[in-house]
Amino acid sequence: MDYTPTIVIHGGAGTILKSSISDEQERSYHRALSESLISGNITLQRGGHALDAVTAAVVSLEDCPLFNAGKGSVFNRNGKHEMDASVMSGDSGLAGAVAGVRNIRNPVLAARLVMEQTQHVMLIGEGAEELAKKAGLVFESDEYFFNEFRFNQWKDLHGSDKTQLDHSDKKFGTVGAVAIDSYGNVAAATSTGGLTNKPPGRIGDTPIIGAGTYASNQTCAVSCTGDGEFFIRGIVAYDVACLIEYSGLSLEQACNKVILEKLTKSGGEGGLIAINRDSQVVMVFNTPGMYRGMIKNGKVLTSIF
Ligand code: ASP
Repeated sequence: MDYTPTIVIHGGAGTILKSSISDEQERSYHRALSESLISGNITLQRGGHALDAVTAAVVSLEDCPLFNAGKGSVFNRNGKHEMDASVMSGDSGLAGAVAGVRNIRNPVLAARLVMEQTQHVMLIGEGAEELAKKAGLVFESDEYFFNEFRFNQWKDLHGSDKTQLDHSDKKFGTVGAVAIDSYGNVAAATSTGGLTNKPPGRIGDTPIIGAGTYASNQTCAVSCTGDGEFFIRGIVAYDVACLIEYSGLSLEQACNKVILEKLTKSGGEGGLIAINRDSQVVMVFNTPGMYRGMIKNGKVLTSIF
C-alpha cells in the first residue's frame, strides 16, 4: 500500500482575532509555521520516520519566540519557566514525556530520550534534566527564555492566584505536530510552557499520553492545545482514537465530537490536530483561532483564524 507522507502542526488555539494582530505579526506567524512544516517535511521526503518528522517540526517551533514552548515559554507564579513535552510513535506504541523541566532548550528532545533511553514513559523536573544533561542536550540560561511580552503578561497576573491560557486574549500558544511517513507510520509530539502564572509544579495535558498526545497506527495521531485540565479530564487525544476504534467513527466525526461537542459542553476551550494512515487531516477548535498548517503533496497551507 502507498502512503502519502503528510505533516500537520499547530501553534496553539485561543482568542486569536484578526483585529488584534498586525499584518506584520500575521506574516511572522505564517512564516514560522511554514518553517516548521518544511523542517518536518524534509525528514519525510528523505524517507524518515514520522516520529523524526514531528520532532523536527516541534524543535523549530520551540526555537521560535512566538509560541509558548521552549524559548517562548510563559512565566509561572514564581517568574520561572517550567516546560512539558511528549512524543508517541504509532507503530511501536512507545511514548516519552517530560514535565516541569527547566532550562532545556528543546523539551521535545528530552521527551524522546525518555522514550528511547529509559524503560519509563514520563520523567519530571530534576530527573528529566539529569537525563537530558547526560545525553548532551543543550541547556540555556533563564535569559534565553526571557521575553518582554511574556513578562508583561505575567506581571498582569502576578500576585494573584489567577492563571491564563497563553493565547486567551493573547496570541501565542502550545505547539504540536502529527505526521504520517511513507511506511504508513503515524506519530505525534506536543510541547508547552503551560499557563501564565501557573503554580510551580502544575502539569497540564501536554505531557500526558492520551490527554494531550496520542498515536496509534490502528487509528490516528493527535496533538492537543487548550485548557489542560479539561483535556486531562476528557482524555481528549485517546477519546478521538477510541471513537474510531470502538464506535467506527471517521477521523473527522471523532474529532468534531470530542472538541465541538464534548469539550465545549464541559466548558473547556481549545483544539487539536489529527491524522490517520489515509493521510486524512483534521484541524478543529472551539476558539476563534488556532495557529495551524500542513504540507501534503508538496503543498504548504498555513492558517490562523
Ligand atoms: N494545554 C496547555 C496546558 O494546559 C496549554 C496550551 O495549550 O496552551 O498546559
